[in-house]
Formats: sequence, C-alpha cells, structure tokens
Amino acid sequence: MGKITIAIDGYSSTGKSTIAKRLAAALNYIYVDTGAMYRAVTLFALNSGLVSDKGDVDVEALIDKLSGIHLKFVPNKKTGRSDMFLNDENVEQEIRSMRVSAFVSPVAAIKEVREKLVKIQQEMGKDKGIVMDGRDIGTVVFPDAELKLFMTASPETRAARRYKELLEKGEEVTYAEVLKNVEERDRIDSTRTISPLTKAKDAIEFDNSDMGLEEQFERIYDFSQRVIAKYV
Ligand code: C5P
Repeated sequence: MGKITIAIDGYSSTGKSTIAKRLAAALNYIYVDTGAMYRAVTLFALNSGLVSDKGDVDVEALIDKLSGIHLKFVPNKKTGRSDMFLNDENVEQEIRSMRVSAFVSPVAAIKEVREKLVKIQQEMGKDKGIVMDGRDIGTVVFPDAELKLFMTASPETRAARRYKELLEKGEEVTYAEVLKNVEERDRIDSTRTISPLTKAKDAIEFDNSDMGLEEQFERIYDFSQRVIAKYV
C-alpha cells in the first residue's frame, strides 16, 4: 500500500500529539513530535545560561552554539513512545516543564533555529509513511503532504487539559499560569515573522472543544484511510 505524509498543525494542547501518536501506531507510520525538538533547543539555551533573569534570550550566542546541539528520538520500550535526547541525554521529562514552556516560543521564532530543525524534519519524512505534528508542518515542512489537519479548541479547554497533565506530573502550577502561558504562546506563534502558525489552505480543521479525543480519533482515522486509498 502506498504511504502518505500526514501533517498535523494547531494551537498548543489541542490534543495534536495524542491523535498523531495513535494515528501513526494504527497506520504503522513513524510519529514525530516537532514541538519536542523546539523544546530541547530551549532547554539547551536555558542550561547554557543564554536566557537572562529578565527572560531575554541571547539570540546571537544561541545561533553560534547551534552546531553543538544534537537531537535524537530514541524509542522507549516502557512507554511505547520515543524520548527526546539532547546531546545524548534523555530530556523527555524536563522539556515538558513550565520552565521550558515559558521560553520555547521566543526560541522557536529564531530563523536559524527553524532552519536547522526544518531540515532535520524534512529528512525524517523523505520516505513518507510519517505523521508529524507541530505548527508549520503543512505550510513549510511538508507543503505537499497528502493529508493536512489543523486542530483547534478554546484556550480554556486547552489550558484545563495542560493543567491536569502538569498536576499529574507533580508540577506546582496554577490554572491561571497555564492559561496565561497557552495564550502567550498562541500569540507569539501566530504573529512571528517566520513560519507563523496558520492553517494551510488545504488543511481540514477540527475543533475539539466539545468533542472527546476518542471520537475525534475515530473520525480522523476513517478519513485518513480514505485519503490513503487514493494513493495505493
Ligand atoms: O507542540 P508543543 O506545544 O510542545 O510546542 C512547543 C512550542 O514549540 C510551540 O509553542 C511553538 O512555539 C514551537 N513549535 C514551533 N513549530 C513547530 C512545533 C513547535 O514553532 N513545528
């Protein structure tokens, strides 16, 4: 059967990665979470002292150090997913923290950072059979993807989901802080000059504010089967 490229974009905490992961498993495709890559670069900047106490990122210094950043997805047998490795260190847990979430959008707005990561992403998907989620997958990374989805949900619904996840991980955070971070990331991601978060013209929009992810997955899976059938 012919394999296709599936691009899933959308706002933060819209359930993109949950849907993408399940879809990849059901289709026996590779799954790539590009947000993890931007998060790992942000963690590198934080750990290298490239973010000031005031929260300003030293863009020039980060660009200088980009060639020393090596990212790798390593399958984790226990979780059945892949963990993000930054320079051979497993940073899967750390990249999901609020500390990283607070700075990831300014780091992801840097042209050189995007160029480096987009190149890696295009290489990973060159043989198709991939489900990739992010913000610019259908617009920049794979503009010719056969199936493009754009996920949305209200900021309050998304913040509530993220808040629950963070609490479960034992992070001390308030709902108000999470909502503020979700809204701030939406704003920066949608208004940046390079590859802003926007729905590709040929993407299908899914709003899951009032729909369970299970029901949504079923619909998306059926839909993907129909698209794949066209490329057999
Ligand atoms: O998907 P996730 O919420 O983990 O992404 C974290 C951040 O990484 C986003 O808020 C966005 O700033 C950035 N990102 C991006 N382009 C992508 C994926 C993520 O700019 N393709």
